[in-house]
Amino acid sequence: MKIVRLILILLCVSSFVIGCDKSQDMKKNNLQVEVFKGGFATVNSFIFSNGKSLIVMDVQRKTYEAKKLTAIIKAKKLPLTHILISHGHTDHFTGMAWFREVFPDAKIVVANEDIKRDIKDYAIYMDGFGATAAEPVLEPALKPKTDELPDGFDYENNIHVLSENSLTLDGGGTLELTTDYKPAEAKHISTVYSKDLNALFLSDFGYNGVHHWQGDDITLHLIANWREELARIKSQYADRNPIVYPGHGDPTDMGMFDRMIQYIDDYTHVVSVAKSREEAMAAMIALYPDHKEANFFLKYSIENHVK
Ligand SMILES: [Zn+2]
Repeated sequence: MKIVRLILILLCVSSFVIGCDKSQDMKKNNLQVEVFKGGFATVNSFIFSNGKSLIVMDVQRKTYEAKKLTAIIKAKKLPLTHILISHGHTDHFTGMAWFREVFPDAKIVVANEDIKRDIKDYAIYMDGFGATAAEPVLEPALKPKTDELPDGFDYENNIHVLSENSLTLDGGGTLELTTDYKPAEAKHISTVYSKDLNALFLSDFGYNGVHHWQGDDITLHLIANWREELARIKSQYADRNPIVYPGHGDPTDMGMFDRMIQYIDDYTHVVSVAKSREEAMAAMIALYPDHKEANFFLKYSIENHVK
């Protein structure tokens, strides 16, 4: 009889413990992330969801890609609270004008004033005379608002600077933002870490299986900064061993850092010894035959570094 009672007590205790575990699970936010892989420039957007609300990070280079992305977000039937732009390059911010039309209540946010200025400057530059073969013209919806163009995009009032280095979803789940990087692929950039997902969103510090963008104003000095920061980020996150989400290419693991450093070393060597652009192109394609964007990112990078 006593044994039966003891077993009953043990069962109660164990079910209480399991019950506790369950309630703790319920308290956890169910943060999830979905990658939208853009067809143009192999650029990624990320949709964060906790089952109650949504945040999107980066919104594509082409409005037709942004339209696909907004359709996916709409179908989730949850409020989109924020549109986070990681840095001031057109392949990450062009879609924001379309997003404003579809989600007027969602706030367009950036991590600091520098990134806001980069976005505005890039748009003004492209709207003026910056359109090159490498950078197709600015989409009309992003033309800056002026006295002559009152319906233009209002960069000053439509882009908000976050007051702290984090962004929390309505209903739970926090994205931690880091911006203290040396100028590299972009002058200023924000990366995102999610403890809930143990995931690191590198924006354009990360390229996986895609030729790095080193065109335009990206000097060898900035490429050296990029290499240095990759080594630093790698050591900072080594213990946590997160899933790594690059700005361009598929999600991967921490091995991406060494692969990118190798790519940078190969690239800087190739452009220093090549006697022509054709030779440099051929050498890089031979080393990285499966990398994407050879005719876009690699081509204009080599035009920049092989005169
Ligand atoms: Zn990019």
